[in-house]
Formats: sequence, C-alpha cells, structure tokens
Amino acid sequence: MREAGHHAVELVIDRMTTPGSRPPCHAPSPGALRAALDEPLPEHGTRDLPGLLDQVTERALAEATRLDHPRCFAFVPSTGNFPAVLADALASAYLSVPGAWLVGAGPTQIELTTLRWLKAFLGLPDGHGGLFVSGGSMANLTCLAVARDHRLDGLPRPPARLYCSSQAHPSVAQAAHLLGLAREQLTVLPPDADLRLDTAALAERVGRDRRAGLRPFAVVATLGTTGTGAVDPLDRVADLCQEEDMWLHIDGAHGAAVTATPRGRHLRNALGRADSLTVDPHKWLFQPYEIGCVLLRRPELLPETFGVARHSLDQGYLRPAHPAAPASEEVNLSDYGPQQSRGLRALKLWLSLKTFGAGAFRRAIERGADLAEYAAGLVEAHPELELVTPPGLAILTFRYRHRDAPATWDAGTAQAYISRRVCADGGAVLLTTTVRGATVLRMCTINPTSTRADVAYVLELVTRYGRDT
Ligand SMILES: *Cc1c(COP(=O)(O)O)cnc(C)c1O
Repeated sequence: MREAGHHAVELVIDRMTTPGSRPPCHAPSPGALRAALDEPLPEHGTRDLPGLLDQVTERALAEATRLDHPRCFAFVPSTGNFPAVLADALASAYLSVPGAWLVGAGPTQIELTTLRWLKAFLGLPDGHGGLFVSGGSMANLTCLAVARDHRLDGLPRPPARLYCSSQAHPSVAQAAHLLGLAREQLTVLPPDADLRLDTAALAERVGRDRRAGLRPFAVVATLGTTGTGAVDPLDRVADLCQEEDMWLHIDGAHGAAVTATPRGRHLRNALGRADSLTVDPHKWLFQPYEIGCVLLRRPELLPETFGVARHSLDQGYLRPAHPAAPASEEVNLSDYGPQQSRGLRALKLWLSLKTFGAGAFRRAIERGADLAEYAAGLVEAHPELELVTPPGLAILTFRYRHRDAPATWDAGTAQAYISRRVCADGGAVLLTTTVRGATVLRMCTINPTSTRADVAYVLELVTRYGRDT
C-alpha cells in the first residue's frame, strides 16, 4: 500500500506541476483508444499496482485535452488544486457519507460548514441552505424539482409554464424534461440585444399566458451564460417573479463566484432574492470534478421533495430504532437531494478554502475577469479582430476579419479554420461558438495560471492563421 500510495502521490504531483508541458488539445481517435484499452475482463489480478497506475495514467488519463493548460481557453477551463485532490482521496478512504447522521455525522458537519462558508463568500443571507451535488446540471434539476413540487403540488399539469431565455444552459431543458414537463411547457424566449433574458418580453408572455388560462410557475435566470458570460437582469426578473408569484431559479453555475468580488457585489441582493440558486464549484471555484451546489432561500422545502418518508415504500432499514441524536438536532442530508449514498464532495472545497483562504479565491476570480478585459482590449485594438460580445464574467467572443477579403471569403468558415489551426498547430485551445447565428471564437479566461502573455500569444495565432483564410 505504501509503495503504490507514494507512487500515486508522485504521479499526482508530476501531473499537477506540469500543466503546460504538452499541447493541450488532445483527442485521439476512438479506434486507437479502443485498440489500446479495450481489454477483456481481467479474471486474475496482479500484484503490480504501481505498474497499473503508470499504465492507466499514460494510456488513458493523459489521453485527453488538458483543461488546466494555461493556453486552454475553451469551455470553462478547470484547474483543480492539490488540497482538493488529497481531500477526495481521504473522503474516499474514510467512506465518508454525508447522508444519515448516524452514518456520517462528521462528514455531514463538514458539508454544513462548507455550505455556510460558501454562503458567506457569495454574500447570501444566513437562512439559505442546501447541499452539494455532482454539478450544475444536477443542481438545476434538484432546484426545479422543488419548484415544481412547491408551486404545482408536484404535478406539471399541461397548463404549467416554465420560462427561460434561449441562452440558458441546455441542462435546464433537460431538467424540465425529466420533471415531466412537455416541450411546450418550457417557454424559451429570444434574448435581448445583449443576449440577456428580455424582461419586457417575459412580462408580456407571462401576462398573455395567464389570460389564456395557463399557469406560469417558474423562471430560470442565468448569472453568466456559458456561451457569452451574459448576466440576465436579475433584479428586474426577481421583481417580476414577486409580482407574478413565480419561483425564481438563478443558474449561477459559472458566474455566481463573481459575487465574491467587488466586481459582482451589486448582484448579491438579487442573488439573495432567488428561491433557488445553482453554483458550480468545479468551475470558477477551481475544484476538480465533481462538485456542484444547490442553495435555497427556504431549504426546508428540499426534504418536502426528496425525503423518502413521503413515499409508501418500506424504508424501515433507513430509520433504525435507536436514533443517533435527538431527532430535532440531527441533519439527514440524504433527505435533501435525490441521492442516498453520496460522496463528501464538500471536503475538497473545505480543504482548499482552509489551505488558501477565501482571499486567494477572490483574487484568483478577479484575475480571470481582468484577463478577459485585457483580451478584449487587445481584440479591440487590432484592426483584423472584432469583439462580438464584451468580456462578461471572464468570457468574450470575437472574430477574425480579413482586411481585404476576396468575395468568396466566408467569415464562419474562417473562424472554424482558425480554431482548428490553433488547436492542431498552435499549442492552445480556442473553440468556436454561435452568437446570433454567426460562428465566432470564444475565450474563457478563468484559469489563474494563464497570463497576459498567454492571451496575447493566442490572439497572435488567431491573426496569423486568419491571414491564411
Ligand atoms: C456548466 C453549466 C451548467 C452545467 O453544469 P455541469 O457541472 O457541467 O453539469 C449549467 N448552467 C450553466 C450556466 C453552466 O455554465
């Protein structure tokens, strides 16, 4: 155990201290990976655990794009952090389950403490509560399940309507589907000119739907859309939800972290008014996968949806005759979400906050937002680059434009070509997205190890490859 354990720690440290050692974009062919890895079920084991660790890291784990590379600006890059890796290993070794108090008292307290820290960090009122889940998608599903139960008595009857803009994350539509809403029950509104939820259109639509006998029950607003980092007008949406008696869910998977910094402080009030909130610490809080978070203004609604006692199946084995603590004191987080057995995801956030301090997190978030503004400045100053959307929450979109393009030059094809070259030959990752129907380049700069030089270098690649189009 010690030999293999020490070896594993060496592998972890080697990996985490060399984020930029190879080109980051790496997606080998399915055929090659199948040939290398698709072995028969091993009937007999081996004593060479260190050897297996070497094999699987080299042949499988390393055969992937490096989201922590300082020149990886695609998706929402993730850096992870060393204390968090140790936390995951310890939580695993201790079989920590923050579920029933009798099973996981200490782990439950760590989760409750970490939730409280996260609330303090984001400036949320103390009464909020929730739990950690696997990620933003599961958090959206969990929150919307409570909205459905609380606002529709558990039944998404045909008149029920849920609203969001077309810029909301696809997991919102997935959640609506899983919760039994038909396609037409999720009203997807076109965004305003800044790609934010159009509150005038929302108000108009909700009024029209009510007059038609429909039942508007919830709105999803996004704090930091994944595509362009746009922030929906949260205060206005909160007002409307209050006037119309609708549940407000804020999807802050990517963007909620900014409220911890002076830049995002003005959003705190609206955040606190939401009935439910999604935060994704494996995004802008630098955690390794998986950790998402659900926060509710009235956390006591979670057990109303997820407590197993509300159903009629036998669950005597979950309710032993001798309680662990007076019933009023013990917290059974297994009643707060859809999972019974659940890993102690909170520990990695707890340990990294203890190790680095909240100040370091705030500075790292600021740094990412600054870097996007720096990138936008370079784009705007360059005659061959054009900013498409401003650097909202560390995400910007832009495009290359030819100064004397031939008539046949196609802007979308050119951006795709540039992206492909940057990934294949440039030692960086820059991907495209679609903004208002056009293919553009997208850059997300939250990696705290990315520098201004990395940003300038990648923009230089864009113009270099752009001239070949
Ligand atoms: C990433 C993201 C999600 C989904 O989160 P996962 O952790 O990938 O499941 C949901 N909403 C927004 C706004 C996101 O950026």
